[in-house]
Amino acid sequence: MKMRYIDEFRNPDLIKKTLEEIERIVEPDDHFRIMEACGGHTYSIFHFGLQELLPKNIEFIHGPGCPVCVLPPGRVDEGLEIASKNSEVIFTAFGDVMRVPGKKGSPLNHKAMGTDVRMIYSPLDALNIAIKNPDKKVILFAIGFETTAPSTAITVLKAKELDIDNFFVYSNHVKIIPVLKSILDQPNMRIDGFIGPGHASVIIGAHPYEIIAKEYKKPVVISGFEPLDILQSILMLIKQLKSGESKVEIQYKRVVMEEGNVSALEIINQVFEDRPAFEWRGLGAIQNSALKLKPEFAKWDAEVHFNVEKIHIEENKDAQCGEILKGMLKPNQCKLFGKVCTPDNPVGALMVSSEGACATYYNHLYSTMSS
Ligand code: SF4
Repeated sequence: MKMRYIDEFRNPDLIKKTLEEIERIVEPDDHFRIMEACGGHTYSIFHFGLQELLPKNIEFIHGPGCPVCVLPPGRVDEGLEIASKNSEVIFTAFGDVMRVPGKKGSPLNHKAMGTDVRMIYSPLDALNIAIKNPDKKVILFAIGFETTAPSTAITVLKAKELDIDNFFVYSNHVKIIPVLKSILDQPNMRIDGFIGPGHASVIIGAHPYEIIAKEYKKPVVISGFEPLDILQSILMLIKQLKSGESKVEIQYKRVVMEEGNVSALEIINQVFEDRPAFEWRGLGAIQNSALKLKPEFAKWDAEVHFNVEKIHIEENKDAQCGEILKGMLKPNQCKLFGKVCTPDNPVGALMVSSEGACATYYNHLYSTMSS
């Protein structure tokens, strides 16, 4: 059975043609460093072996687009601290968060020690748990870029509509543009262009990337996730780089519109406002890079209700998550990679999520070695 939008973007003839065109344009002296900002792209690049197919002088830099990976270590601990100290609290989170290592273990470790930790598939699951357990306080550990912020915002609006007062959001929603700017502002940073994240761009559209193209003079091509999507995006980027242009283009036109999803943006703006600053793993504090609930929704804000004590955790001094997120090292160049830090025993969050650069590298390297 043919699958529309899958088969045509895995078509071997079209892939071959696109690769030939890339090879024709790229000259031996070129060296293009392209950052894929989204963990989904990192996964696809390895899954489909694209790095091996492309000329050696096109280098992928794996960016900060996996929300679990950029979460500073203290955030999970703060949420778990509330739950482990209050027997009436239920801590809910998505699957990827369950294995994020904290000071006293991951959410799964806390569950094993008796804390009421539950895995959810959507923010509404957490609200339903609150409705079914009126004598409990339910914390939603909300995480994600602009992609997932609308569903959290809708859930807060639903809690307000139903007047649910035992549901609280611990917001870790982050924004893509400030972190890309922050990476470009790092000293000695050389990135020639960006494969723009397909999912977050469904919500924010293409316009917010103009600052990257106009002020930083770096081309951005918003890309889909199939192999042909990524190769076409590389080709579009290289054409721009070779002609000295820097503009924002959409390759993923079947999903992303210039103006984004206006309704979703309105809902985000209704419920959230920018935090003055937010700490990113390995990148430090970045201004206006994350979302918190607006004061009119403080009743559902876990950070207001529980008066969360900030926890700062020193990361393992040999962990090089920051250098990986800034594109300065490849995952297998981290001192802990594959020895101390593995998917079964992750030291850093980049080894936790299947979209994390280190987990993707590890799984790719070891599946290649065993095949
Ligand atoms: S191997 Fe582990 S410690 Fe090293 S950068 Fe990756 S996640 Fe961080």
